[in-house]
Amino acid sequence: MTQQPLSMFGPDFPFAYDDWLQHPAGLGSLPPSALGARVAVIGAGIAGLVCGYELMRMGVRPVFYEAGRLGGRLRSEPFPGNPAVVAELGGMRFPQSSRGFHHYLERMGLQTRPFPNPLTPAAGSTVIELEGVRHYAETLADLPPLFHEVAQAYDAALEEGAHFSELQAAIRDRDAARVKALWNPLVRAWDERTFYDFITGSSAFQTLSFRHREVFGQVGFGTGGWDSDFPNSMLEILRVNLTGCDTDQHLVVGGVEQLPRRLWQHAPNAIAHWPTGTSLQSLNDGAPRPAARRLYRDPDGRLTVTDSHGHVGCFDAVVCTCQSWLLTTAIDTDEALFSQPLWMALDRTRYMQSAKTFVMVDRPFWNDRNPHTGEQLMSMTLTDRLTRGTYLFDNGPDQPAVICLSYAWMSDALKVLPLDAEKRTELALGALKKIYPDVDIAAHIRGNPITVSWESDPNFLGAFKGALPGHYRYNHRMYGHFMQQGLPQSQRGVFLAGDDISWTPAWAEGAVQTALNAAWGVMSHLGGRCDNDNPGPGDAYLEWGPLGLED
Ligand SMILES: Cc1cc2nc3c(=O)[nH]c(=O)nc-3n(C[C@H](O)[C@H](O)[C@H](O)COP(=O)(O)OP(=O)(O)OC[C@H]3O[C@@H](n4cnc5c(N)ncnc54)[C@H](O)[C@@H]3O)c2cc1C
Repeated sequence: MTQQPLSMFGPDFPFAYDDWLQHPAGLGSLPPSALGARVAVIGAGIAGLVCGYELMRMGVRPVFYEAGRLGGRLRSEPFPGNPAVVAELGGMRFPQSSRGFHHYLERMGLQTRPFPNPLTPAAGSTVIELEGVRHYAETLADLPPLFHEVAQAYDAALEEGAHFSELQAAIRDRDAARVKALWNPLVRAWDERTFYDFITGSSAFQTLSFRHREVFGQVGFGTGGWDSDFPNSMLEILRVNLTGCDTDQHLVVGGVEQLPRRLWQHAPNAIAHWPTGTSLQSLNDGAPRPAARRLYRDPDGRLTVTDSHGHVGCFDAVVCTCQSWLLTTAIDTDEALFSQPLWMALDRTRYMQSAKTFVMVDRPFWNDRNPHTGEQLMSMTLTDRLTRGTYLFDNGPDQPAVICLSYAWMSDALKVLPLDAEKRTELALGALKKIYPDVDIAAHIRGNPITVSWESDPNFLGAFKGALPGHYRYNHRMYGHFMQQGLPQSQRGVFLAGDDISWTPAWAEGAVQTALNAAWGVMSHLGGRCDNDNPGPGDAYLEWGPLGLED
């Protein structure tokens, strides 16, 4: 029997966002009196753009505020001297299970291809170098038994601790009742326990050595090392594994930043109220307004946003998609707009750090073979050295290619935080020289390196959320805030969306799904509703929403 494809259907809120998006009835409609309503969207990342795009199609006027660059953490930085070649500084590998995200890629006519992850055919070959010992592999079968034991132990731990196969089958089948029956007890069991606790407490790892746990932390599953996530709540990791975020990932040909840019410029055919040819860009006179600096309710009860030039705009609703800490550090936000428990959740959000350093090279020289060993000259590389993950991007024979010399998180990212691109490159090349003593990587580099540390950027303060043990209630408060019917009037009208509001931070699909929740929230705030044949997330929430844990 063929399996249904995996999608990010829950597990906290099993709602089929992709079906909602593709239904011919559309997402919903507004009463005539609400057409042309002004809704501020703070942040023009993927969450703001998806939410604004869908609201525009319903007849709303989204007014964008953006402190930095359109696209946010979907940033494809062109190399100086060859703008067609880009470094993916934020999101770069998108699981096929991100059905909402892929819906927009397809709609905007963008192509994808498999991402060169460790041990995948797209990578060609992989080198794992730990404690100075190097293993070359084209498939998992080429690695020594220790690596197989680690992989099998993690699979066994997932079965033992999380009914993995059964729960994943329920997600594939989109059986919401079964998903909830299996997932909700796991929420109670694992919210307050770490990923490391899950590993060490499992029978499978208990029969193995410390070395096995250490190798698991360095090599992990699917996408590379996971020891940076060891302190996180196990629920975060289970969501990634269950919904297939760690497998079957694709990159966007030409750079993912094309997606936010095309959403901004796109003039949809099916659009209420606005004339044909209307786009977010045309409704915003070409460009977003500058940064939002103040978010208040005025004495008449209207929501106001003040931009960095002091201009004050009045709105029927506000969608806020910047990282939630920025509501405390960058935007003077009226405290009365949110309950104190929600403020607690927003401020307790915990971000992970991430640094990446890229260089452009003359061609994908790594495909050349070593005449003595027959191995590729260089491979996708996982190591315990400071580079941690090195990824190779092949744009075709004799075309300029890209190396992500280092993709690191948490303490590995902090090690290079104060260093500039040149110094980071020097350190990375030094580490790689120890793994590939005979390869002159530097000889192939063209132009200047590109680097990023998201935590040093005042518009982000971190790469993405990484929930700690005990954060489930905070996640629940933020995620569920789009359901505003029960809130006092003074707390209605501001909607939260984006990576850190979602249950699946670090995956753009979470930003998309929360953006769609916010679009539903704004639509119902303005008196609109979904077609009876195509109920939206808010219509399904009371029945299938996340488990409420007692305080
Ligand atoms: C290093 C890294 C790697 C990642 N890898 C992957 C991956 O491989 N696959 C995947 O699916 N996802 C990945 N992600 C996650 C993905 O990039 C995010 O989930 C997604 O881009 C978040 O979109 P967003 O709209 O929620 O937030 P953002 O993109 O952060 O958008 C928010 C916007 O708000 C703006 N802003 C901030 N302050 C203000 C203000 N005062 N006024 C106005 N605007 C403001 C910011 O400039 C920003 O543009 C990665 C992220 C990072 C950082």
